[in-house]
Order: sequence, then C-alpha cells, then structure tokens
Amino acid sequence: MTAEVHQLPYASRLLLFLTVVAVGVKWTEPSVAAAGDAPPGKIAIVGAGIGGSSVAHFLQQHFGPQVQLDVYEKDTVGGRLATVTVNKQQYESGGASIHSLNLHMQDFVKLLGLKHRRELAGKSAIFNGEQLVLEETDWYLLNLFRLWWHYGMSFLRLQMWVEEVMEKFMRIYKYQAHGYAFSRLEELLHSLGGDTFVNMTQRSVAESLLEVGITQRFIDDVIVAILRASYGQSVLIPAFAGAMSLAGAQGNMWAVEGGNKLVCSGLLKLTKANIIEAAVSAISLHSSEGKTFYQVHYEDEEGQGSSFYDIVIIATQLHDSKSSITFQNFDPPIAEFPGIFHTTVSSIIHGYLNSSYFGFPDPKLFPFASILTADAPTIFFNSMDNICPVNISGTFRRKQPQEAAIWRVHSRHPLEKQELKTLFRSYYSVQVTEWQACPDYGSVKTLPPIVLHDNLYYLNSMEWAASSMEMAAVAAKNVALLAYNFWYHDLGKIDQKDLMHKVKTEL
Ligand SMILES: Cc1cc2nc3c(=O)[nH]c(=O)nc-3n(C[C@H](O)[C@H](O)[C@H](O)COP(=O)(O)OP(=O)(O)OC[C@H]3O[C@@H](n4cnc5c(N)ncnc54)[C@H](O)[C@@H]3O)c2cc1C
Repeated sequence: MTAEVHQLPYASRLLLFLTVVAVGVKWTEPSVAAAGDAPPGKIAIVGAGIGGSSVAHFLQQHFGPQVQLDVYEKDTVGGRLATVTVNKQQYESGGASIHSLNLHMQDFVKLLGLKHRRELAGKSAIFNGEQLVLEETDWYLLNLFRLWWHYGMSFLRLQMWVEEVMEKFMRIYKYQAHGYAFSRLEELLHSLGGDTFVNMTQRSVAESLLEVGITQRFIDDVIVAILRASYGQSVLIPAFAGAMSLAGAQGNMWAVEGGNKLVCSGLLKLTKANIIEAAVSAISLHSSEGKTFYQVHYEDEEGQGSSFYDIVIIATQLHDSKSSITFQNFDPPIAEFPGIFHTTVSSIIHGYLNSSYFGFPDPKLFPFASILTADAPTIFFNSMDNICPVNISGTFRRKQPQEAAIWRVHSRHPLEKQELKTLFRSYYSVQVTEWQACPDYGSVKTLPPIVLHDNLYYLNSMEWAASSMEMAAVAAKNVALLAYNFWYHDLGKIDQKDLMHKVKTEL
C-alpha cells in the first residue's frame, strides 16, 4: 500500500490528502520538504521505559535499520519497570504483572528469547480495616458459590462486561498488523469500540457497571478493592481504564523471568539504538531551506549539548512537569498539559507478617498471599502481596506464613514506623520507591494529543486512556506507524473509518 501511494503522481496524492481532510481528519500535512521519499536520517526518543524501548523496535521495523535511533534516558533503562534487591534476589517494585492477552508483550518476550516466570498460586482476601470480608478458598466452585451467594449475578455480569471490552480492544492488533495508525486517541478508541469506547473515557467505571446490572454492593465490596490495588484510585476513574484494570484481576497474569525490565534493555540492544544517558531539557523547532527539523537540548554529566533530528518521539509523561521538557519556537506554542500524576509508594519489606491484625492470631493458619483493601478511614495501605523473586527455580516455594517473607505493600504515602509495626511483627529491611505511577484520572477529563507537531509525537498520551505496559506498547506501535505513514504521505493508513470491514476485505 505504501509503495502504491508513492507511485501516485503528486496531484493524485494531493487529491487523496484533500479527500481525507474533507471527511474530517484534522492535521496539517507534514512538511513536504522534510519528509519525502528518502527515509529520515535520525530519530530521537525521549525515555527508555517500555514505551521508549518498544517504539525504538517498531520504528526500526518500519523505517529499516539504516535510520539512526538515539534514545535519551535521564535515569535508568526500564523506567517504571524496576526491581529492588533483597538478600541477593530481585523483586519487581514497579509494573509487575502482564495479562495473557497482552500480545505485544508476548511478542517481545518471544522475540528476545525471554521466558515467562513460573506462576505460584496464592489466595486473596479483602480487608475492611477490622476483618477480612471476602476470602478466596482453594475450591473454585466454592469461590463462585460464595460470590453468587453474596452478590447474585454481579460477578458473571462483570466478567461478561470485561470480556466484551477486551474483545473489542484486541481489534487494535489487527489494525496495527495492517499498518493502520491513529492521530488522536479519540479516533483510536472509536475505531475499536465506537462512541461507547470514547464515552468510557468520560464516565466513571461505577456508572458503567451499574448500567450493566452490577450491584452497588458488589462495586463497594469488590471493585473498589481491585481498583485500589491496581491504580490506587476510586471507582470514579474512567470506565475504559477501569475495564483494563479489572481484566487484570481475572487471572491469567504472567511476568518475565529475570524481571520485566529485561524487555526494555533487550529491545534497545536488538535495535542497536544509541542510549544517551542525559536529561532532555528542551526541544526546539527549526527550519532551513524549506526543511523543518528538531533540536533536542540535553544535559549530561559533562554539561549541556544538543543534536538535530527529523523525528522526535516523547516517551515519557509531559504532565505534572515530571519530565521538565520545554518546547521552543513553536507557533502556536505547545500548550501546558493539565492533569496530575498519582503517587503510589511501593515498599518491599522483608519480615514476619502480623497476621493477628487480619484476625489470625496463629500465623501458621494465615492462608493468603494477597490482601486487598476496602476504602475505609482506618486503612493506610492499598494492597499487600507476598511476592516471589524475578527468578524462580524449579524448587522454589512460597514462604510459610509464619516465616519471614518478602511483602510488597502499596500505599499512598510512605508507611510510618507505627504502620509498619501494625502490619509486621518484626522486619529485617524496608525498601521504598515513590512512583508517579499513573495519571490521576480525576484531575482532568480531556485526552492529550498524540501529534504535538509534524514529526513530533507524544507516546504517553495513551496513559490517559489507560496505563499499563501493554498500553505503552500499543501506543508505541501506533506512534511508529503514524510517524512512518506521515513521513511517506500514506494518509490512507491514518484515522481510517470502518476498519473492521477494511481489514476483512484486505485479507
Ligand atoms: C507501582 C507500579 C505498579 C504497576 N503495576 C503494573 C502492572 O502490574 N502491570 C502493568 O502492565 N503495568 C503496571 N504499572 C504501569 C507500568 O509500569 C507503566 O504503565 C509503564 O511501565 C510505563 O512505561 P513508559 O515507558 O510509558 O514510562 P516510564 O517507564 O515512566 O518511562 C519513561 C522514561 O523516561 C525517562 N525520562 C523522563 N523524563 C526524561 C527527560 N527529560 N530526559 C530523558 N529521559 C527522561 C524516565 O527516567 C523513564 O525511564 C505499574 C506502575 C507502577 C509504578
């Protein structure tokens, strides 16, 4: 298709462009002088998390190996995928679990020759500040019966709702395999699930669940606890983000043997991208002899520097001034991004659980590996998990509840000494990471742009629809395709309507 568009005379391409504009797509054609038949010389990527590293891979897949890829990273490759070490073993302190239907993550692991980490089963319970209110048992049917007994059909309705959303969401893989990209999040969501998906970014998950017949009691007891454990936020988060998070609670989760961050370092190694250890401070727009290009200004250990690029991908948050990047010479200026990020504190604690606090005076009888929490004033943490190291040998077994184990506690604020003493009889070590984990979905309702300017893209805008490793990878593939299609004027592959029908007839 790309080659076909290229062979069209310019007048036909212009006509094609005008036709696309006439059906309502709003962007300015990329500067013809900068783009063209020749591939771009240099592309800059700001950020080496899963978004930055996967976009490096996808850009190379599309533009070919001759394009120079420079990846700027001010901190550590992996970003929010990170581990901490306890007793010579590493444990995930950031993004931990991946859904089995997360196909880009699955592909990366295969491509890089990595392995899925063996899953160790563990039971969960929900704590309301005084007692455990919902306890999982070893018997699947008993669990189902209990849910039905307490909540009627809500559990089944939830499953059906999540499955419907996931089924529609998975259309993205087909569209991307056919080379289609979207210049706005609203277009992307609309192509997957019509107006319903777009509306799901505007209305709360609670509202959507009530609409499909899920009871308020089930929402208060179960959904609240799941969302506190994932996004650390309430049932007022948008329904789309909520659905993605609830899909994770259905099980079928996995992680990468050796640590999820290995995907980032692996992809960057595979693409032979230049990793530049520097903080990008500004991006300025320049033009010369009719060509537009970008100057990326950075600061490293040796001082300040800058380099010029044809295309720039921002693969970090621009919201909340976290990345401290300014945009210069843009007219109109690139606006400030409203909205704040949500803090999640991850404490990795090596210690003896105080099972009495959860109503089990004898620690040997405490059967749970995960505690989720209700939204109650006395509760000072969101969730806690008895976690396994990133490498599990064949003989590895989870610690018995009376033994010292490694627990990951998620909370809004760093745990105070008294709070640690409440959760643990005693402990050897506490390692704290304070994350700007995901958008605070209550702080703003508008979805940010993907295209900041011709050939300047904002990958992390996707997080405002939903935030996860796979969402970053989906955004990366979209941005790589968008950059490629724009560069080669393949406008028929951008923001197309009725894609389900189109991809069927293209087969
Ligand atoms: C505690 C926690 C638990 C989570 N659990 C899960 C989970 O179970 N499953 C899941 O799928 N997701 C989970 N997530 C979310 C997931 O980790 C993130 O969505 C994903 O890792 C984001 O990747 P990213 O590349 O978009 O951003 P980041 O990982 O934040 O990468 C951005 C990178 O850009 C760098 N950077 C920033 N500014 C600059 C600059 N000016 N110059 C140069 N470099 C810069 C940063 O240092 C960083 O490395 C969790 C996140 C947290 C924090």
